[in-house]
Order: sequence, then structure tokens, then C-alpha cells
Amino acid sequence: MSPAKANVIKDTPAPPTADVLARMAEHERTCWRWSLSPGVETGRETRFGGQPYMGAGEDWPVCADCGTAMAFHMQCDLDAVPENAPDFGGGLIRLFYCLSQECAGMGGWDAADPQNRAIMLRGDGALREVPEGAELLPALQVTWERPVADYPHGEDHRIEGLENPWEFNVHGQKFAGWPNWYQGPERPDCPQCGTTMRYVLQLVDDRETGFNFGGGTGHITQCPDHTDALGFGWACG
Ligand SMILES: [Zn+2]
Ligand SMILES: [Zn+2]
Repeated sequence: MSPAKANVIKDTPAPPTADVLARMAEHERTCWRWSLSPGVETGRETRFGGQPYMGAGEDWPVCADCGTAMAFHMQCDLDAVPENAPDFGGGLIRLFYCLSQECAGMGGWDAADPQNRAIMLRGDGALREVPEGAELLPALQVTWERPVADYPHGEDHRIEGLENPWEFNVHGQKFAGWPNWYQGPERPDCPQCGTTMRYVLQLVDDRETGFNFGGGTGHITQCPDHTDALGFGWACG
């Protein structure tokens, strides 16, 4: 055995004990990954890009910092999530983000930043034409993949009382499960009641969708009591 190999073995944490595994099992949640395929937008289906599904009375979101019409990034139909997925109260989440040169690097990573908006729609709407000045991203349809068992990220171990070096946290884009944090837990407070929001779905860098989180992750969050109150934030290492 070479010395280098011996070092690797020495640095590897001890295998998780039965007690650790049992506590992790208590925290098991299911998450769903998805695959993307180019397609035509038809309505409120979960997808990336294309024209958003918006209510008749909704105004197109404008960046409060630079005044540019935001780009529509994705929507998630909480009434048509995979079977046995957690109940987030239904409705249609739409995520908008400012892509103007002026705002590049100026914000958008925090839920309170003016460069991003995650908005809930209740009731009916229609496809909305993308206004002049807003970037139209290619429409990509979502196909849900089989469910996967997910466990808390290391940053959530402290909160959950699970301290151990083993994570079993699912990386990459996913719906539900446990978030993968880059700089620490980012669950914003509900602007209506101050309650800590819960994680709903995770986005990662993707050339097809145009997302760039610097190799980090982005999260849509929701108030458990005011399910119309949504947040979006991202972080990278
Ligand atoms: Zn802007
Ligand atoms: Zn609330």
C-alpha cells in the first residue's frame, strides 16, 4: 500500500453506527429529479422557459432595481406534482429573474433582493406573451424521474441534532426532499408573519435553462402558513 493510499484511509470517517443510521432514517424524505426536453409550452405545466402562465390581472414582474422586465425562468404546478409528493398547498409557482447587464452581479441571490420574484398563482390564467425588453428563454418540458430517498445536508445536521460526517444528501436539481446548502441554510422569513419558510425545490447550473449559480444551488421556499408567500435565493461556494 502506498503512503498516499494509507492517508486516504486514515482520513475516512468511521462508518456510520446503527444509531446514526436509525436517526438518519427518521429524517428520510423523498425527492424527485427531472429531465428536460425541448417542447412547446401549452399552459400551466411544470417547465422552464417559454411563455409563463399568468392570471389576467397579473402584471409582468419588473426589476425594482433597474426597471427592466424580468425574464421568466420556470414554473412548477403544485397541483400536478409526482404521486406521493408532499402537499405544498397547490397553486402554480412562477420564477422570474432580472437578466439585465445593469443588475448582473448586483443582487438576486437573496430572497429580499429586487432582482428575483417567485410568485404564486391561484386559479386560472393563460400563456402570456413575453414583453419587449424581457429575454425569452427556450421552452423545456419537465419529465419527473423516479423518487429518490433524501437526507439532511450537513448544514441541517445541527438543526436536526444529527451531527455526524455522513450526509446522504441528494445533489443537483430536485423537487422536495432536503436542500443542499452552499454557505449555510437559507430559509427566509415570511414577509407576512415572520415564520421561517420551508424548502420546496432546488435548482442548479444548467446550460439548457440558462441558470448560472456559479456552481452553487438555488432554492424556492414557501411560508407553511401563507402558502402564497414564496422566496427564492441562491448561493455558491
Ligand atoms: Zn434589474
Ligand atoms: Zn407566513
